[in-house]
Amino acid sequence: MGHDNSIPHPEYDKSIVMLKQLYEYTDVMMSAKKNHARDAAMNMYGGEAIFHPRFVDIAEATSREYEKYSDSWRLRRRLTTNGTATEKNWKKIMDHLEGVTMSYHTYGPPKLKTLFKKNLEHLIDIKKEYDVVVLMYPHEDHWDECRSFLRYCKTNNINARPRLLDGGKGKYSEKHIDELVEFFRPEDLNHIKPDAKVSADGRACCGGRPLCTNGNLKTAQTLVPRGAQGYKGWFCSANQFFIQGQNVTGEYFTNKDCHVRLDQTRGPIATIDNMTEYTDRMRRLITKNGAPPILKCVQDNCLCGTCAPKATTPERLQEIMKIYNTTN
Ligand code: SF4
Repeated sequence: MGHDNSIPHPEYDKSIVMLKQLYEYTDVMMSAKKNHARDAAMNMYGGEAIFHPRFVDIAEATSREYEKYSDSWRLRRRLTTNGTATEKNWKKIMDHLEGVTMSYHTYGPPKLKTLFKKNLEHLIDIKKEYDVVVLMYPHEDHWDECRSFLRYCKTNNINARPRLLDGGKGKYSEKHIDELVEFFRPEDLNHIKPDAKVSADGRACCGGRPLCTNGNLKTAQTLVPRGAQGYKGWFCSANQFFIQGQNVTGEYFTNKDCHVRLDQTRGPIATIDNMTEYTDRMRRLITKNGAPPILKCVQDNCLCGTCAPKATTPERLQEIMKIYNTTN
């Protein structure tokens, strides 16, 4: 839900109950998938998740609770972080993650930037999968430092990429766009209009994945397009690829941006109190119909979830889903 320092940290016990429920739901959805598609990527979000006073314990629980599923599906845990945990905690947390995305914010105090670099060095030393996202703040106090940090990464073979900002701050002048040529492919900059919000036209996937939108894999683009119409009325498999648990509110959603439900309304699909029943219902539907249910989209904008297979008819979507599912 973004950075909000006014609310207390989610309770540890509640977080562990939700972790178990998330694994159980994942296990049910994986039961319909072919072996090559049985990969679960778990992202732990905050604001800044490592600020939680018991984050190390929660990270340990993600390993412990996964043990009973480890023969059925693969788990890749990933944390998006500003990398400012103490060096001691950072080392403990890394035992329970497969990868880290480190976000570099140029507006932070020098002390935190030093810690960021030390923690990044540790990831490189232990050969942990990582990438660095440099948030491109267009403000004159930060712009040059964003560019020089990207150059520093390039010189030192650090896997880094720039990310344009969402929302009101994500407006770039003609001069900015000219200077971005150093870091982006020209085709990724074609969408950007000077002094207009970039998020209106497209956004890089949080995972940095390129998306092919025309069937030609050689022309995949890193700026994922956002049509004004979204995919309202289309049939979508987002519920078969995503689940988001909010351990602040105790609610579950299809994902952090897609709030579409199976009954063609929007809102939480379940809460901590009835998630077990929801998961049992999915299990029964898979057994009865030979496949998990699909969504019919009722949302104006499709943000995270653009990559989930979707089609204009349920028959076409079921055909596509044969790539992933063992069932019809
Ligand atoms: S908003 Fe996107 S991910 Fe969600 S149902 Fe619609 S098309 Fe699918």
